[in-house]
Amino acid sequence: MKKRILLLAGGQSGEHEVSLMSARSVLSALPRDQFDVTPVVISKQGRWLPPTETQRALESGEAATGGDLVLHRVASAEGYDAVFPLLHGPMGEDGTVQGLLTLAGIPFVGSGVLGSAVSMDKVMTKQVLESAGIPQVAWRLAVRREWQQDPQGVRDRAAELGFPLFVKPANLGSSVGISKVGTPDELDGALNLAFGLDRRVILEAMTSHKPREVEVGILGNDAPIASPVGELRFDADFYDYETKYTEGRATMHIPAPLPPEVAARVRTEALAAFRALDCAGLARVDFFYVEETGELLLNEVNTMPGFTTTSMYPKLFEAAGVGYSELVTRLVELALEER
Ligand code: ADP
Ligand code: MG
Ligand code: MG
Repeated sequence: MKKRILLLAGGQSGEHEVSLMSARSVLSALPRDQFDVTPVVISKQGRWLPPTETQRALESGEAATGGDLVLHRVASAEGYDAVFPLLHGPMGEDGTVQGLLTLAGIPFVGSGVLGSAVSMDKVMTKQVLESAGIPQVAWRLAVRREWQQDPQGVRDRAAELGFPLFVKPANLGSSVGISKVGTPDELDGALNLAFGLDRRVILEAMTSHKPREVEVGILGNDAPIASPVGELRFDADFYDYETKYTEGRATMHIPAPLPPEVAARVRTEALAAFRALDCAGLARVDFFYVEETGELLLNEVNTMPGFTTTSMYPKLFEAAGVGYSELVTRLVELALEER
């Protein structure tokens, strides 16, 4: 019997288009002799599109309008063996869709409500990883109400970290809303930008030197494995949105040219983070490696990383001998696994 899979893509976050690109790759890679796959694109307004509109959105790479209310579609989603929520960012990767699918009783690819929600929030992630003893940059939290009522208090807290520092919305991705603040007079602009996108904002000390950015893939549920380590290189001040999504601006190096003991630390700490955050299925764990000091600092955990055939996560497993088609098949099997 073929398994019936519902593939969710698009969604309400700033990573809508990225998700549609990933979905096209997954759709053509899930073996048709094993799986009967139905894609449903979620519009930027959060409405689930019927088949013809879904097809149109997958082809055009964007779905701004149209569709039904989500609850109506979940009820008709009964009968699927599993869902692949290939959604990035808020309202997709953050536990909301995972909660809906849990209530609907449908198994799904990736982390559950807890792992998704905690990993999406950069502050919660830092707190959990701190208690797991995993090295990270120094950081502070600020909330919007405080920024409105006591801006000087927020400025003082930021200054404790020293300049340059990073200001980031706590719950976003793809570098959206992130600023590198070089001097105190740039701080207000960065805070206004971040608070325009999120109620919670994280202030982060910059690594002591420009870091090397290394990433590792994790695959599995309660006995996860780590991929080889990869590295991203780019010619920009930091890995901002433009550098991420402009063809040819960044290059991937797999395996990353690292001393073996550093690569081993990356894999061990990534597995520890995956467990501490109660992740499942897959995650891409990103680190800063400061070559000058030998420091390895965990930056973030992405529970639904970019998933086109040329994205880092699938490329890391390809280097481990797991091809794209085998990888997506394995992910669906992990979703169906008894835990
Ligand atoms: P996102 O979830 O949007 O990818 P990140 O936290 O990964 O956000 O930050 C995006 C990029 O900004 C990183 O890949 C890195 O280039 C740079 N960056 C972020 N935080 C720091 C930091 N504390 N020190 C140095 N560089 C940083
Ligand atoms: Mg991220
Ligand atoms: Mg990142």
